[in-house]
Amino acid sequence: MPLQELIINGFKSFADKTIIKFDSGITGIVGPNGSGKSNITEAVRWVMGESSAKSLRGENMKDIIFAGSQFRTPMNHAEVTLIFDNHKHDLNLDSDQVAVTRKILRNGDSQYFINNKQVRLRDLRSLFVDAGMSQNSLAIISQGKVDQILNSRPQDRRSIFEEAAGVLHFKEQKQTALKQLEKTNDNLIRINDLVKELS
Ligand code: ATP
Repeated sequence: MPLQELIINGFKSFADKTIIKFDSGITGIVGPNGSGKSNITEAVRWVMGESSAKSLRGENMKDIIFAGSQFRTPMNHAEVTLIFDNHKHDLNLDSDQVAVTRKILRNGDSQYFINNKQVRLRDLRSLFVDAGMSQNSLAIISQGKVDQILNSRPQDRRSIFEEAAGVLHFKEQKQTALKQLEKTNDNLIRINDLVKELS
């Protein structure tokens, strides 16, 4: 599922709409310290469902919106789109190309789109989790990640392997099913109480 294109607008240091095309093979992004290289990987993780502002090096999710500079006023929204080649249908959608967009406004409102159709954050997340690629997957290795993996506790390391093996998706489904089961049991208890009261 190759990433073909990244379109960044108003995200962190990218005040101007910037299109980065990824050809086949390896793409290297070089630049001086502080020029925005890490911001690019963060933009990718953000679209893939990252919900922790701290892991994007901010206090609040709104901190990812271009905050202004000496020559530019702050922006009032940030928008990032990832375009994937989906010929192999790794993403569970019919189309051969998939565009995933995430948008945030200064008032904190967020919007998510898959192929220009508005969706919920959970739809966007499950699209990636089903393809074995959540925002935490090893498809993206940020600075310090290797050290973090080597120094992690065995339980945490296990979850890394589970994600790579595609088990995480089933674990999440199991958690959802268990919660529903618990709710249904509570409902059954209440119904039994009502039946007892009425009989
Ligand atoms: P290094 O090589 O040192 O790791 P880098 O090229 O990876 O640097 P980044 O860490 O991606 O650089 O970018 C940091 C820059 O992004 C800083 O100049 C910072 O001021 C800018 N930046 C971060 N958030 C915002 C924001 N919300 N608005 C404007 N600029 C921002």
